[in-house]
Amino acid sequence: LKAAVLKNFNTDLDLEELDIPDLKKGQILVDIKYSGICGAQVNQKKGIKIDKKFLPCLMGHEGAGIVLEVGQGVTKVNSGDHVVLHWRKSSGLESDFPKYYSKTSKKLIGAGLITTFSEKSVISENRLTKIDKKHSLDIAALLGCAVTTGIGIVENELRAHSNSSFLIAGVGGVGLSIIMGANLKSPSNVIALDLNDEKLAFSKTVGSTHQINILKDKKIIDIVNRITDNKGVDYVVDTTGNEEIIDQLLDATATGGSLVLVGQPEKDKNLSITNFLKLFKGITIFDSQGGLTNPEKDIPHLLELHENGVLNLDLLINKRISLENINEGFNLLENHKFIGSRIIIEN
Ligand SMILES: [Zn+2]
Repeated sequence: LKAAVLKNFNTDLDLEELDIPDLKKGQILVDIKYSGICGAQVNQKKGIKIDKKFLPCLMGHEGAGIVLEVGQGVTKVNSGDHVVLHWRKSSGLESDFPKYYSKTSKKLIGAGLITTFSEKSVISENRLTKIDKKHSLDIAALLGCAVTTGIGIVENELRAHSNSSFLIAGVGGVGLSIIMGANLKSPSNVIALDLNDEKLAFSKTVGSTHQINILKDKKIIDIVNRITDNKGVDYVVDTTGNEEIIDQLLDATATGGSLVLVGQPEKDKNLSITNFLKLFKGITIFDSQGGLTNPEKDIPHLLELHENGVLNLDLLINKRISLENINEGFNLLENHKFIGSRIIIEN
């Protein structure tokens, strides 16, 4: 099987032929049809998330495909089933890590319970969910991370009420799906904040009602007050991890409102809050736990909402590339040039 292998940090991935490992207890061999590249892999490639001792390794944590073969003890799926591959844990066995070997160098290639940047992959039973065959697999791949995280933040973490206002700082991959989630709540306003006009313009297509370019409009609070009749925003989501923006977002948060931190700050950065009396109005600040998704419940539900036209997930697939061109996808994300939510790898 062909796979994209990360051999060194900050270098392109290499395509390599690997032997298909024999299936162990709780493992499932999946024919990967689609896979998305997410910010987590961009960080992984930079060495932010993993130690050098895990290299060379496989990557990718959202995808969709068809079950080819199941290992001992697997009861959730059979060969031929359509499945979403997700990083969040669900029911089923947790297998050992699969052991892949390069066909050429014979070296061991590291892999976790789920990896998706390959033609086929060995997945742990508790990292996949069976779906109805009526769903298109490219859309299904988004349910592995992008969509479930974004909508889960609104539904499960903020437990947002309807007719409320939202502000989403940073309208990249996850920001756009948070905007979609906000729109399931008949919001009064969905304010998008970014430093890129093209990204802000695109956020309108998925449902932002107002757009603030932080480079041009330095005083976020004045604009927010104008939009919300001086009430501030009920639900504020930061995907930037930028400490200066987060301080300003606190100014924009309404009495009794919530600020959820999604974007990870750089190591050793401090958050200092100017005029911290502004916190004394019942504001809740918390960090996101990836939308607290329950894959077996949330994935089929969100796919149904897409089938029924309540969600238009097609809007979140904004570029399609082949596995051979995976580095092109990474370059676009690393240079912050990509407009949209997801780059999808098609096999
Ligand atoms: Zn992800």
